[in-house]
Amino acid sequence: MEDCIFCKIVAGEIPCYKVAENNNYLAFLDVNPLTKGHVLVVPKKHARWVHDVENFGEYWVFAKEVEKKLEAALQPTWTQYFTQGVVPHAHIHIIPRYTPVESSEAYPKKPIEKLSTEEMLRLAERIAQS
Ligand SMILES: [Zn+2]
Repeated sequence: MEDCIFCKIVAGEIPCYKVAENNNYLAFLDVNPLTKGHVLVVPKKHARWVHDVENFGEYWVFAKEVEKKLEAALQPTWTQYFTQGVVPHAHIHIIPRYTPVESSEAYPKKPIEKLSTEEMLRLAERIAQS
């Protein structure tokens, strides 16, 4: 879809910090991460909402594969998935959490301090190779 930022990322017109991909889905680091390792998982084919994605189950299975990589690379205490839809192209947020689940807020309210380009590249590579 024209003027869709995630379609442009999928098409390679806008760069991203890629952590995983297959024929149908792409996972990359959120540039405004709520925690270290916050990833977005998008379908390559445009869909407005997560529930509009064809092969909904397959999409979530891919997200789980990404989550396993995050777990291996970053050893979070737990991992959170959420969907919202502010950007109008389906995306699943996967957020590694580093505080005990019992005392964690429902979701982190503010982005962490931005990492440098170099740190983002290193982090993406570390997750990708896990
Ligand atoms: Zn799109």
